[in-house]
Amino acid sequence: MSFSTLGLDASLLENLARLGYAEPTPVQRAAIPAVLAGADLLVSSQTGSGKTAAFVLPGLQRLRTPAKLAGKGPRMLVLTPTRELAMQVQKATHGYCSGLKLLTACLVGGMPFGRQLAEIRKSVDIVIATPGRLKDHMDRGSVDLARVELLVLDEADRMLDMGFQEELDSIVSRAPKARQTLLFSATLAGVVGHLAARVTRDAQRVEIAKKAEAKLDITQHALMADDEAHKGRMLDSLLREVEVEQALVFTAMKRTAAELTLELQGKGFTAGALHGDMHQKERTRTLNQMRQGRMRVLVATDVAARGIDVPAINLVVNYDAPRLAEDYVHRIGRTGRAGRAGVAVTFLGHADRNLVRQIERFTGHRVSLMEIPGLEPRARQREQRRSEHREHREHRKGAAQ
Ligand code: AMP
Repeated sequence: MSFSTLGLDASLLENLARLGYAEPTPVQRAAIPAVLAGADLLVSSQTGSGKTAAFVLPGLQRLRTPAKLAGKGPRMLVLTPTRELAMQVQKATHGYCSGLKLLTACLVGGMPFGRQLAEIRKSVDIVIATPGRLKDHMDRGSVDLARVELLVLDEADRMLDMGFQEELDSIVSRAPKARQTLLFSATLAGVVGHLAARVTRDAQRVEIAKKAEAKLDITQHALMADDEAHKGRMLDSLLREVEVEQALVFTAMKRTAAELTLELQGKGFTAGALHGDMHQKERTRTLNQMRQGRMRVLVATDVAARGIDVPAINLVVNYDAPRLAEDYVHRIGRTGRAGRAGVAVTFLGHADRNLVRQIERFTGHRVSLMEIPGLEPRARQREQRRSEHREHREHRKGAAQ
């Protein structure tokens, strides 16, 4: 099946051909015609499924028709949980809309207000924003949502996890009732379902099966770790593998990310940290260094790493195991991008043993337990010593007889 059967304009098809997209992904196949037909949608899809194009492409097509209301203010609004994801969506949008004379603005926290004000003073067609910063702009009267025709909530589950419920409700209440709303989320159950009921009308559900979608080109391993020192030695050994082009290392806390980065730099790796306490400028600089291949190892926390799309990352290390199987999927989805193969390695403490089974059940893929020769966990070393001892004794017994 090709994009041309989905009802998209020739100019968009040309841009897709230029980007080398040969055929739509399952979520694009299901969502694009429905969005073009004007339906509200609830879409459950995973990271890396091509969901951005699933809402941006039909959105762009809609913007090519005359506006319902004259005046200024965005006609399409995309809300994302993090700055990185917002910037990612903006970048993707620029790729899809090249030559179409549409203006976008990205309103995210951690960036200077002044520049954003100057950006939205122009007549922007699309605003991509994190809820907190958009709410700030609305409170200052710098953004008017009266012209919004298409509202997209991307990774809605994450926005709720991050405590943006109040901002979301406030933003939605200022958008026109007669709008089209698309909600994307890893899950549509629980609180996301309640949000969906409040913000959409007669929505169609698009559920893309997780198992079919979970990527097959990521080899997944788990390693038992005794303590921090053991984790440090195993990480060092993994990063020295020649096949590793660039690596992304996840820690549970910002402090660990900062400390581990210093440790890796001390060992001679070009490493950088990415976490929520950093100034946006610094985060952007770090990400650019990764993209340009000037940095080999990025140490990040879950939230900071959302939306990272660096194709040369072929190793993801969960230095601290993720709390949930969903987080695991998001983390490992940072490798195996753009059809390349990737490896994901998870360090497990004794309390994390159950996690492997949960992950296997959630993804439908096996996570094999392995060891690095010479860096086996203590329990295994004791076992090995005991068996060597036994062999030695048997050997001596044999020699004496
Ligand atoms: P997303 O799930 O939106 O983050 O997209 C994941 C990656 O897939 C991005 O790098 C996109 O550029 C890429 N992508 C999206 N749709 C297609 C497609 N139909 N063909 C090839 N690559 C795609």
